[in-house]
Amino acid sequence: MKLWPYLGALAPLLLWTGPAAAGEDPPVTIDTHVDIPLAYMHEPRFDAGHDTPLQVDLGKMERGGLNAAFFVIYVEQGPLNAKGYAKAVAQARRKYEDIHLLVQRYPRRIKLATTPEQVIANRKAGVLSAMIGIENGYSLGHDLKNMDWVFAQGARYIGLTHVGHNDLCTSSMPTAELGDPPLSDAGLSAFGKQVVERANRLGIMVDVSHSSDACVRDVLALSKAPVIASHSGAHALVNHPRNLPDDLLRAIAAKGGVVQAVAYKGFLKLDPGRELAEKALQAQVAKQAGDKQYDSEKHDFLPAYVQGMARIDKAFPLPTLDDYLAQIRHMVDVAGIDHVGIASDFDGGGGIDGWRDASQTRNVTAALRKAGFSDADIAKLWGGNLLRVWRAVEQTADAPAR
Ligand SMILES: [Zn+2]
Repeated sequence: MKLWPYLGALAPLLLWTGPAAAGEDPPVTIDTHVDIPLAYMHEPRFDAGHDTPLQVDLGKMERGGLNAAFFVIYVEQGPLNAKGYAKAVAQARRKYEDIHLLVQRYPRRIKLATTPEQVIANRKAGVLSAMIGIENGYSLGHDLKNMDWVFAQGARYIGLTHVGHNDLCTSSMPTAELGDPPLSDAGLSAFGKQVVERANRLGIMVDVSHSSDACVRDVLALSKAPVIASHSGAHALVNHPRNLPDDLLRAIAAKGGVVQAVAYKGFLKLDPGRELAEKALQAQVAKQAGDKQYDSEKHDFLPAYVQGMARIDKAFPLPTLDDYLAQIRHMVDVAGIDHVGIASDFDGGGGIDGWRDASQTRNVTAALRKAGFSDADIAKLWGGNLLRVWRAVEQTADAPAR
């Protein structure tokens, strides 16, 4: 007790670090889903080596103890024709270039990791790891040869689809604007099957987040390797089409895979009022910018949007770490501790109260401890499971992924 007087001066710091200080960091922390804007690294405001408006930059990762992240090559779903494919391929190329720029510009702070061993080696060397994942196989441009190209670029998972059916498989969220038929038994297309087979042979993890349930079943039946869901929620707790039902959580686990529980507001708590408010804000900001439609790439960092979102956060509070932990707990109960992981979806709509950006990553670890998970469990959740699956996928491949 006699230490208290000396602690007085440190109190603000202790309060600030709060629960984060209450234990050691896990062996490695891996976030499997972080988006990047199209202008990433190209515009000074999105140079991740500096302080940025992004939820993930190098400083936030270093301060928050987030060791490794899959940065995603996301493209929006467009029409399945030559023009649409060409646009998607071009957008994706730009994003691969962005991530390569990141590691080239800051080689002492972050390195590209294309194997689990590199992630571990980077961690031991005190360097961050950047991995590459694909969100929406539409950006293959309907050309199987591009699988080899994306592997060479460093992509190590491929999310087959996004919002709206594509040429690989059906989406959990069909889009009327694209003329999608409603969900049926249709899952993987013939091209989608080729992509899964090629991914297995190359050593690229197949990611079923965003896929329809029928597609997930098709992938599980076809894939020779375990599969991942890079950012998904639990349907039993929150009835959202993007969340996985218990039978699929079990099926992914039975095949040795992993479901990365995502800290995305809409999958953790249904809040129709907030959804409406966000839609209204998006329409308003797009109109002010002189655009017909809201485009997250273009509008999300405009001051009017940022200020509007802050107002919405006050009126409709974000889900909390407790909501997030409830999903992790459910997934662990259903799928097992060896089959669950962690994803933020930062800079793609992710973020909750308590884990608003990468600088708050230790709050997640503290919340896991508070919820009763052991250090060994936490190590599995924070990346151990994902690395195990990644190794299994490498072992299924034709040649070692080097
Ligand atoms: Zn997503």
